Amino acid sequence: MNKKTVDDIQVKGKKVLVRCDFNVPIQDGVITDETRIVGALPTIKKLVDEGAKVILCSHMGKPKGEAVPSLSLAPVAKKLSEHLGKEVVFAADANVVGENAKAAVAAMNEGDVVLLENTRYRAEETKNVDTFSEELASLAEIFVNDAFGTAHRAHCSNVGVTKYIKDAVGGYLINKEIEYLGNAVNNPVRPLVAILGGSKVSSKISVINNLLEKVDKLIIGGGMAYTFMKANGLSVGNSLLEEDYIDYAKEMMAKAEEKGVKLYVPVDTVAAQEFNNDAETKVFENGIEDGWEGLDIGPKTTEIFKDALKDAKTVVWNGPMGVFEMPNFAKGTNAIAYALADLDATTIIGGGDSVAAVNQAGLGDKMSHISTGGGASLEFLEGKDLPGIVALNDK
Ligand code: AMP
Repeated sequence: MNKKTVDDIQVKGKKVLVRCDFNVPIQDGVITDETRIVGALPTIKKLVDEGAKVILCSHMGKPKGEAVPSLSLAPVAKKLSEHLGKEVVFAADANVVGENAKAAVAAMNEGDVVLLENTRYRAEETKNVDTFSEELASLAEIFVNDAFGTAHRAHCSNVGVTKYIKDAVGGYLINKEIEYLGNAVNNPVRPLVAILGGSKVSSKISVINNLLEKVDKLIIGGGMAYTFMKANGLSVGNSLLEEDYIDYAKEMMAKAEEKGVKLYVPVDTVAAQEFNNDAETKVFENGIEDGWEGLDIGPKTTEIFKDALKDAKTVVWNGPMGVFEMPNFAKGTNAIAYALADLDATTIIGGGDSVAAVNQAGLGDKMSHISTGGGASLEFLEGKDLPGIVALNDK
């Protein structure tokens, strides 16, 4: 990538502000999933080992500018200390850059680590107001962004600070995201296949449109497929349908043809009369009867999709093939997850529900890359510039 990274800078003795993604799930003060903390360790360890004074910051949840105690990062400091095998000093300041934070930073030696309080305790954070950016920046001489999940937003702690700190580079986690997603979209080993699913065409319009410029094959499943089926003149019963997007679906099918992209939509559907895991099911081909709602791709579709994936060398997947939260309607999604796990290809899972589906199937470690940012990876696939990445220094 053309952005500078932590490998391009000298940090010894310098104060380095690192924007991490410590937005971990917490129940009754206990962290229930440490994935994001573990993911941040390589960048932190590198800076510690090189003798930087490492000042960490992150948001957690949506405290909306209030110091909500249940959204404090204090438990993260404790967990980080365990992982790093050294004390992480927690600067408990309701206004983030307060007396505690300033004193903790002033007392730092080389290799020390301080964690600031939840950046969203400050209302300015999500509005990217200069005053808070300047306060954060005043603590450090170098800025490292390692939070991909917020890269599609311009906030104080990922974009605003770069107005005041000249040296702004990417951490290992954010670089890995850019490398995988960037190569997949801009420089893929072909054939490149994209699989899109999830509930709505409307939320993935720009992705479909942009990916049709890049991919060799586009597979569409999930709730969004019914709008395409309707556009093909088929009845969809009670399935999810976005009437306003039928013309758009037609346009996209025409675009695929024009671009020589093979577009796959389901040829059969597993449907039920109730939105319930134990509901009686029926498989429909050539349209769905009234009173029935499509909740998963059917067995023929699953085979066609698997076949379409066989020669893939790069695959990007965003969105489940059905209501995978209910085991009886997770079969199509699981089959795709297993098919990807068996491929000799670069497989990229683009955040959100597809990540949950892959992990639910226990196949997380079989994928080349699992994106840590649902919204950010979607915007990346839409071809948009992500402000959190644009703000970093070019190589
Ligand atoms: P999204 O947030 O747009 O990626 O959509 C993810 C959601 O789509 C999941 O909660 C799935 O349960 C849902 N979904 C997938 N297929 C269907 C379907 N056939 N009918 C209703 N919801 C679906």
